[in-house]
Amino acid sequence: MKIKDATFITSVASSKQFYQTDKPIIAVAGKSNVGKSSLINMLANKKKLAKTSVTPGRTRLINYFDFGEFVLADLPGYGFAKVSKEEKKKWGELLESFLATQKICLLLSLVDIRHEPTNDDKMMINYLYSYAVPFALVATKADKLAKTRVKPRVKEIATSLRVGFADITATSADTGYGKEDLLGIIEKAISIPQEEIEE
Ligand code: GDP
Repeated sequence: MKIKDATFITSVASSKQFYQTDKPIIAVAGKSNVGKSSLINMLANKKKLAKTSVTPGRTRLINYFDFGEFVLADLPGYGFAKVSKEEKKKWGELLESFLATQKICLLLSLVDIRHEPTNDDKMMINYLYSYAVPFALVATKADKLAKTRVKPRVKEIATSLRVGFADITATSADTGYGKEDLLGIIEKAISIPQEEIEE
């Protein structure tokens, strides 16, 4: 699949504003600084579509982008230490209503390939199971490891998150590693008729 052009649609702060579309929605989630904006920019072939964060965790909005064949929903990063309890609660509510009410074709859940998945990462996966949201895992920043370390790390992450090895795609926004694999996963997900997801 080739992305011809990707454009920003809107940012929303509450469930009342969720963007409604007939296009399939691909959501992207991960903790702050995991490389979410960089991954979105890589998929879009644009340097500045999603802002790469200066202060991690600042964006508390869901950003929607039109990728032509699908709409990409960029969820606010989680797990930023300096966020208040109140803000964490708000984030949880926003996430839950997003998972419960938006028709999500596939959610890409990002983890940093170098780090042990956090409790927040595990909680995210639990949410996805409980709301029956189809998901794929993405291990970001693969260029930070020696090539021979990539597969063993992916295996370790799979074990830690209790998912299959093949459910994780290693990527690098710096080198473009894994980009075609990820586009293939998205293409497969959006080719499933929407009605089948709703049932
Ligand atoms: P976000 O907070 O999840 O949106 O993360 P960003 O995309 O802003 O990235 C956070 C930091 O990690 C930035 O300094 C990026 O340059 C860096 N980064 C993101 N992806 C990669 C990658 O694939 N490889 C390397 N080496 N650095 C990356």
